[in-house]
Formats: sequence, structure tokens, C-alpha cells
Amino acid sequence: MSTAAPSENLLKHLDYSVVQQCMHCGICLPTCPTYDITREERHSPRGRIALMRAIADDRIPLSKEFAEEMYYCLGCLACKTACPAGVDYPHLFEMARAEAERSGVLDSAPRQFIRWGLLKVLFGNYWMMHLFGRCLYLYRALGFQTLIRRSGIMKLMPQRLQKMERLTPTMERRFSNELIQYLEAPAQPRYTVGLLTGCVQDMMYATINRDTADVLLAAGCRVVTPRGQLCCGSLHAHNGDLELAKDFSRKLMDQFDLNEVDAIITNAGGCGSHLRHYDRLLADDPAYAERAKVWSAKLKDIHEWLIEIGFDKQLQALNLKTSPQRITYHESCHLAHGQGIVKQPRQLMKSIPGLELVELPESNWCCGSAGVYNLTQPDTAAELANRKMDNIVKTGCTTVATANPGCLLQLEKFSEIRNIKLTVTHPVSLIAEALRRGQ
Ligand code: SF4
Ligand code: SF4
Repeated sequence: MSTAAPSENLLKHLDYSVVQQCMHCGICLPTCPTYDITREERHSPRGRIALMRAIADDRIPLSKEFAEEMYYCLGCLACKTACPAGVDYPHLFEMARAEAERSGVLDSAPRQFIRWGLLKVLFGNYWMMHLFGRCLYLYRALGFQTLIRRSGIMKLMPQRLQKMERLTPTMERRFSNELIQYLEAPAQPRYTVGLLTGCVQDMMYATINRDTADVLLAAGCRVVTPRGQLCCGSLHAHNGDLELAKDFSRKLMDQFDLNEVDAIITNAGGCGSHLRHYDRLLADDPAYAERAKVWSAKLKDIHEWLIEIGFDKQLQALNLKTSPQRITYHESCHLAHGQGIVKQPRQLMKSIPGLELVELPESNWCCGSAGVYNLTQPDTAAELANRKMDNIVKTGCTTVATANPGCLLQLEKFSEIRNIKLTVTHPVSLIAEALRRGQ
């Protein structure tokens, strides 16, 4: 992580070997969704890295066009997987967006207000976030959403607002704190784990968090779930606010007793990819650097952890009596490309008796969700979502599993928009369901 003072160019102060890693081979180009759409070099990983390097070398000034280019990038990290030179694109990408924000080239009063309201006020305040979640729940549950959609009033709104409205998240009736106790334990625990409930995940997919706790209990884990968990800061880091991202990481770490747990478990691909790098994020913080190293070493994606402790074999040995089902699997970019977790979810799902896993064409091609990309770049996001939907339809499956709240939401909403009968679920929920039905 850069040690640049707040007034200095972050790209310039990045370890120069990181900026120099790219050898311009172009192997990443066919894997980049934005390049695939536009066929323009500047919308490719190689083009973006060249721009970052030109700024680091003071060959070009940091312009609005550069900043917009960094926000046109999905941050899907497919280029990281493809790159034979091991270019650390995630690090470059975060620094480039942070530098774009630091320079102020995109600043306007409305943009600053939205960023402050969203990143600091809403995501920074647990109760505010929950109040917002309750309001959204009631908006749908009391029929206001249906009323507004049927009234045709949305047609009078700007196109952009109409597109955003289609993606209004559906909140659950009960959030994680109401579904999961602080401490839950099986009769004979083999491990103790801390469970991350997330911020958006906590309200939109609390049932998946409950399923995660159930599967961990079945796997012999004592589960500690601290109350009132805040955002992990990935939204902030990916949107150029590294200082706020650091604040959130410190607050979240403070909620866990790292000596007590064998692992900290996340079930959200996007969060996991960020949570793993707290050691790098806080490397310059004397009060937290050591703690962050322990955190990063103990941070596990749920699929990774379950395979590590042999739960797939345990699952097979249970001889569950389940009905046959065909499902397909969409890979969260930040799970597959960001964390390299590719085999484990498949291995676990294949261990469920009666489950046939049908491979999804382009399973690791971004669905367009990408944090808030589906709100900031709705047209590109919709193009990617439609491509994903077409591929899902090709499999003939009516259930798709995916392990990230953004992907879950994107697939749910676009199946609604396209009127495709599709159940969108998490691999862990498939396991939890099999355990409930089969025992
Ligand atoms: S992160 Fe994704 S969209 Fe951005 S350059 Fe890499 S492959 Fe392209
Ligand atoms: S990022 Fe990697 S794959 Fe892409 S051009 Fe550079 S070296 Fe080649």
C-alpha cells in the first residue's frame, strides 16, 4: 500500500515494479468484458495500465477522461486471472480510482453529496442502514412498489431513474441478527469460527447467512457472530475512498476476538476479495498492522473452509435422501478471479446427493453487477446481464447458484425483467436445504 501523503499522486508513489509489470502482450484482452464490447484499446486492461503508467511518469495529466475510464472498468479482475506476468491489477485499479477521487476531476456538488450520503452516512451507520433496509422492505411488502410500477408514473421519470428502479433490492423480513444467535455450537465442536454477516447481505440475504451458520454447525464448527457488523469497506476501496475503507476495516476487526477463532468466514465473493487484503490495506498502521496480518491469515471463504476441513466427504457420508435436481453455477468475479476459489464451490455442490451440476458457458464472465456498476453504468451492466441470462437459458436449468450478493441481485432482477423462470440461490443454501430435507 502506498505511503504517499494525502496531497501526493498515489500512482506515482505506488511501488514502481507494480506499474512496470505489464509487458503489453495483450493476452488479457479477450477476457475483458469492456474491451469485448467496445474493441477499443483504452477500454482494455493493457490500455488502462498504460494510462496509469503515463500518469505515474508525469507524461499526461490526470484528466476527467482518465477518471471516467477507471470507472468504466468493471473491476471484475478477469485480466488478473489471464495475465501471465502476474500483473497486480486489483492493486493498480484501487489506486487509480483513489487517485481519480483525490484529484477531484469528477467532483460536482450532487456527486459529492451522493458519495457522502452513501459511503459515509448510510454504510457507516449500522442503524441507519437497517432503517433504510426496513423502509425498502415495507415499500415492497405494503404494495407501494407494485402500485408505482402499475401506475405508469415511472415512465415520466428520466430513463436512468427507470433503469435504477428496476434493480430496487428486495429486503428480507428478518435480518441476520434476528436469525442467528451470537454464539451457536454443535454438540462436539471441532473448530471455532467467526461469521461475517456483511452489510447488504445482512438485509437482502439474511437467510443465506442463516444457511451458512447451519452448514458450519453441521460441519462441527462453533459459530460466533458479532452483533451490529458494519460494512467491510470493499465498496469504499473500490470507489476510491481508501481512508474510509481503512476505518471500516479497523472497526470490523475490533468486533472479533482473533485469538478465539480458527477462521473468519465470509460467504460473499466481493467482500472476501477485499477482506483478505486487510494486511496490505493497514500495513502502514502501527496500531493495526499486526492484527491485520492475523486477520488476513484467518480469513476464509466459506467454500474454501468447508473443503479444507473435509466437509465434502462428510456430506457424502451422510447419505442424504434428496430429490434429483439440475443446477448451474455462475462464478462471482471476486470469488473466482479475486480469490482464486474456483473448484471448491463445484466440489461441494457435487457432493450433494442427486445434484447434477451443469456447467454454465462463460461461467466466470462478469454479470454486470460489479458493486454499484449496474447503477453507474446501467447500459453496459444490462448488456452483460443479458449475455449471462442467455447463457443460463442455454443450460436448460431453472436454478442458478452464485456466491455474491451483487450477482444474486443482478440475476434475480434480470430474470424478472426478462420473465425467465429462474431460482437464484447460494451454493451454501443448496447444502443447507439438502441437510434439512435429507436427514
Ligand atoms: S477488471 Fe475487468 S473490466 Fe477492468 S480491465 Fe480487467 S478484465 Fe477489463
Ligand atoms: S496485463 Fe498482463 S496479460 Fe494484459 S497486456 Fe499486460 S502483461 Fe499482458
